[in-house]
Amino acid sequence: MSEVGTNENPLRVAIVGAGPTGFYAAEHLYKHKDLVVEIDMFDRLPTPYGLVRAGVAPDHQKIKSVTKVFARTAKKPGFRFFGNVEMGRHLSLKDLQAHYHQIIYCTGAQTDRYLDIPGADLQGHHPATEFVAWYNGHPDFRDYEFDLSQESAAVIGIGNVAMDVARILCRTRDELAQTDIADYALEALANSNIKKVYILGRRGPAQAKFTTPEIKELGEMEDADIFVLPEEAQLDPLSEESLAESADRGTARKVQIIQSYADNVPTGKSRELILRFLVSPTEMFGDADGQLKSMRLVHNELYATGAGTMRPRATDRFEDIDVGLVFRSVGYRGVALPGVPFNDSWGVILNADGRVIDPDTKEPVLGQYTAGWIKRGPSGVIGTNKPDALETVRAMLEDLTGGRILDPDFPEAAAAEQLVHNRQPDYFTFADWEKLDEIEVAKGYALGRPRLKFTSVEEMLAAIGKQAAEPVL
Ligand code: NAP
Repeated sequence: MSEVGTNENPLRVAIVGAGPTGFYAAEHLYKHKDLVVEIDMFDRLPTPYGLVRAGVAPDHQKIKSVTKVFARTAKKPGFRFFGNVEMGRHLSLKDLQAHYHQIIYCTGAQTDRYLDIPGADLQGHHPATEFVAWYNGHPDFRDYEFDLSQESAAVIGIGNVAMDVARILCRTRDELAQTDIADYALEALANSNIKKVYILGRRGPAQAKFTTPEIKELGEMEDADIFVLPEEAQLDPLSEESLAESADRGTARKVQIIQSYADNVPTGKSRELILRFLVSPTEMFGDADGQLKSMRLVHNELYATGAGTMRPRATDRFEDIDVGLVFRSVGYRGVALPGVPFNDSWGVILNADGRVIDPDTKEPVLGQYTAGWIKRGPSGVIGTNKPDALETVRAMLEDLTGGRILDPDFPEAAAAEQLVHNRQPDYFTFADWEKLDEIEVAKGYALGRPRLKFTSVEEMLAAIGKQAAEPVL
């Protein structure tokens, strides 16, 4: 048999997860002119692009244009997309090992971090990740319900996801109607009764995780005013000193914008966004029916750690706020894949620079790699995953050169396709996705919207002329 990576014997790679990282990994692999590679990309959803479709806020359409680059990668020779195919359900690790020389896990972070405080199980408290997936039309979340008849809501955390959630809660029907938000979410949000949205940061303005454009955008809402308490907008002496020393202009600009909101007065808009700092929820209270009614906050002070960061410490000052709907937006978390070593406390696949590591021997596991949020945790913007995927691809190519690759029993592309066909006859090819995409865009165009999303797998199957069949295991 000729060398792996040649026309006669292409390098066969399985990428699990069709989000940005999966596409960046594929792009990096295709850059090597001397390497003949065949890539099969799997996703449990029929649609590609991961969080670009199901996470990026619908009112941030420009960010979604990155998919044009991914679609070009999908046209490269030897690339195949198998959507609606889930590892652990339709395909096992053994199956992948029997068909590929290398496997890359790019499954992102599919769940969220919990907030363990009394009352957290009350009705009305939800992970922000579920709300985001719901308004973006993710098929697994379309039937979720959020009680938008409440007058007051709160978002816990001040990262960019919290900004997205707060903005979407405050957008008008007209603003939402210009986006690709799921149609049921548009209807529910347009009829929402929410008048007040708190956004709760446990540290101060200088430590906020949101980025400058996002905080600026909150001050430019059509029908919502933003307020910051003057005493919370002021930096504490430690933060002031550390900001001056760091000469971090980005953070200084963010702080300046936050402080400008402390001068705001009501302008008659229907909704209020109240951005709070140095407060942590300590307890949620409900009524006899288990419905959330209010939340207790403790005021924090900051202290410097030896590592140069500022941590919050609770004081003995408390306050209660009335809220009937709360979204915790305190970070995403990765989910383990069957048979793949996982670091449970960090919520990531156990790895060193992208090589999956055996927990016992601490040595790389042959042929298995990871990239993106499931490798490093949920940080950075979409583009951050490009260098991250490059690091992994470099490790893969080093291992290929060193002969440290799997020796699959069935290395032919046709064998993998047959396997998928047997296990999940309702798989989606990239051409199927292109057909769906075209229909969604055309339906959206008719309404003056970027697209009208299909939000159930059955609808998607019907749109491309397939009928749902039970998987054969
Ligand atoms: P994030 O940026 O890590 O923010 C998490 C927030 O939760 C922080 O404010 C954090 O506070 C807070 N938090 C954590 N534990 C808490 C607790 N126990 N109590 C109260 N607050 C707590 O995460 P994210 O917002 O989920 O975003 C994930 C990644 O996606 C980020 O890199 C983000 O920039 C990116 N993203 C980007 C965009 C965009 O570019 N427009 C949009 C959405 C998401 P501390 O700082 O004190 O820990």
